[in-house]
Amino acid sequence: VSVDWPGVRGLLIDLDGVVYTGDEPIPGGAAFLAQARARGLPFLLITNNSTTSPALVAERLQRMGIAVTPGEILTSAQAAAGFVAVHGGRRVLVVGEAGLRDAIVEEGLDIVDHDSIAPDWVVAGLDRAFDYEKLTHATRAILAGARFLATNADALLPIEGGNVIPGAGSIVAALQTATGEAPIVVGKPESGLFEHGLRRLGDLQPHEVVMIGDRLDTDVVGGRRAGLRTILALSGVTSAQHLSDSVASPDAIVPDLGAVADVLGWR
Ligand SMILES: [Mg+2]
Repeated sequence: VSVDWPGVRGLLIDLDGVVYTGDEPIPGGAAFLAQARARGLPFLLITNNSTTSPALVAERLQRMGIAVTPGEILTSAQAAAGFVAVHGGRRVLVVGEAGLRDAIVEEGLDIVDHDSIAPDWVVAGLDRAFDYEKLTHATRAILAGARFLATNADALLPIEGGNVIPGAGSIVAALQTATGEAPIVVGKPESGLFEHGLRRLGDLQPHEVVMIGDRLDTDVVGGRRAGLRTILALSGVTSAQHLSDSVASPDAIVPDLGAVADVLGWR
C-alpha cells in the first residue's frame, strides 16, 4: 500500500506511551511538537481519560518540559460533551469527575443533579466517588428514556508507580447490567473521539489525518476504523514482538514520536 504522506494536514497524538510514560517525557517528543507547530501542521494530544481537564494536562506536560496549550489537548470528556451537543437534548446526568462536568458545562449543556428533572442523557466516565446512589439515579434515568453515553470503556487506568485502578468501563458495565442498555462509547477504539478531533483540527477529512499511538487495539485499530492513517510508536505498551502476532497493521512503525518526522519527510 502506498501512502501519500505529503497529504497530511493534521495529527492526533496519543499521550501515555507516546509523549510521556508516567511522569517522564519520552525523548524527542517535545521537539517534534515544536517542529509540527513551526510547520503549521495542527495537532491534538488525545486521551481517553475523562477525569482531567485540558488545562491540567497541559500543566502536567509543562512540568515535564513539554510546552503545550490547553487548546492542543482533547479529552474523551470534551468529545462526549460535543457528541451530546451535536445530537440534541441539553439536560445531562453526569456520572464522572470534574473533567467531565467541566466539559459538559463548557459545551453549554445543563447538568441535572436531582431526581425531579428527567435528563436527556446519562454521560458516564470514570468516577472515583461512584457509589450505589449514583448507580441508582443513573439507572432510573436510563430506564426512563435518557440516552446512555460513555466517555470510554477502558477496563483499567494505569496510574503512577506502575499500578492500575478500575477504569470507566467498570462503571459503564454496572450501568449496562442494571439497565440492559448498551451505551454509545466515545473514546478509543470507537470513533467519537477521532471524529471530534477531525472537527477541532478544522473539519479535516479522515484520510488527511494521522493517528499516532502506542496501542494496536485502540490507537491503530480504532484509528483505521475511523478512516485515519496510523503510525505505531514502539515507545509504550507495544513491542516489536507483539507486532508479529497482530492482525492490526499500522501504515508506519517508528521507535518514538520524534521519528515521525522522518516518516513525514521532514528531514
Ligand atoms: Mg497510549
